[in-house]
Amino acid sequence: MVSKSPNLFQVMVPCQHKGCPQTFTTKSAMRLHYRVAHLNLKEYLCRHCGEVFAYKRVLRNHCEKVHKILPTEEELKPCKDEQERAKYARVEPPPKQAPRPELRPTIAQAEF
Ligand SMILES: [Zn+2]
Ligand SMILES: [Zn+2]
Repeated sequence: MVSKSPNLFQVMVPCQHKGCPQTFTTKSAMRLHYRVAHLNLKEYLCRHCGEVFAYKRVLRNHCEKVHKILPTEEELKPCKDEQERAKYARVEPPPKQAPRPELRPTIAQAEF
């Protein structure tokens, strides 16, 4: 029913990455997407375990779920300094173990 009228919409900002079809309502949203999606930059550092996240809300979520704390605004600030990140990233995650056979879904076996 509602047809797309260009006059009713803001000018969309296309992603500056060549070949990326995404468009954004604001330039800052585009830049954030560009950094995360194309530069793989994650600036939000968890000061409690050293894990990094691309988005502030993801870091906040992580703190609430994993550390059971409400992060302060200070803790939610993006961390752009490599050295500071390295300082917090001292906690090494345990090496990933091969999945135990009993944890594998049985559906795969039912195909035989
Ligand atoms: Zn893009
Ligand atoms: Zn953490």
